[in-house]
Amino acid sequence: MKKYTILSVILLSVLLSLPLVSAADKVQVLVSIPPQTYFVQRIGGELVEVASMLPPGAFPHTFEPTAKQMKALSQAELYVRIQVEFEQAWWDKIVAANPGMSVVDSTQTIDWLEGTAHHHEEGTEEAKDEHEHNGRDPHVWLSPAAVKLQTEAIYQGLIHVDPVHKDTYLRNKEQFVADLEALDQEIRQILAGLKNRTFMVFHPSWAYFARDYQLQQLSIELEGKEPSAAEMAQIMKTAQAQNIRAIFVQPQTSKRSAEIIASQIGAQVKVLDPLAADWLENLRRVAQTLAESLQ
Ligand code: ZN
Repeated sequence: MKKYTILSVILLSVLLSLPLVSAADKVQVLVSIPPQTYFVQRIGGELVEVASMLPPGAFPHTFEPTAKQMKALSQAELYVRIQVEFEQAWWDKIVAANPGMSVVDSTQTIDWLEGTAHHHEEGTEEAKDEHEHNGRDPHVWLSPAAVKLQTEAIYQGLIHVDPVHKDTYLRNKEQFVADLEALDQEIRQILAGLKNRTFMVFHPSWAYFARDYQLQQLSIELEGKEPSAAEMAQIMKTAQAQNIRAIFVQPQTSKRSAEIIASQIGAQVKVLDPLAADWLENLRRVAQTLAESLQ
């Protein structure tokens, strides 16, 4: 008996001295959209491996997961929700594909904006946007303040599935929050002193950003669709009245109506990407592009 005990002790000490995190040991986390991979990676660091259901270039309002992705789901230990359309539409199937997976909803403490209520000028308010769901604007990952509200849920999700590394996750979360606060200050400085604070976009992704930095977003897209000829004429009038110098498109949507309106009013078409995975750098670029364009 004693022999076996000694053997177990030796075996245990060998096991304990093995390097801690091989790739297979990392906490497998799934998120819905690429910017969330950045958020989870910041808090999880080396301890996690994060994958996004939405691949680069896809559009979260119309995307449908592939069979291969649904299968890959069974590897995940944690899903961080953000309540975009496809995630809601597919949620029952996602859970069915991996019933044992832990889930956190990072939007629990979000101060939701109404879905594209301040769409166009008064008079077109009856043009309700399909884009919203439950009347809420889903683009909650596009302001540092809104992301800060999501860090606690991500942290709680990680310590739930990997309580041993609680201290590391806490340290990482605090550093990330400090970086979010610094980015917020930096964006305020970049946008300070702009006289013209109204910008026009094709797809209305930037309402939270606009709210936090006292900007006004005007959208071309109506009800998730390209506008009709009559609506286009109305939008052009608005753009001229607001002295719009640039119209912003995103890589995942059509540029056609933005180009038509821009050429009619002598504005430029520029790209702002709401779904870039290098989230922090991207938001800084967005602020700089807006500042240059709204001079
Ligand atoms: Zn969107």
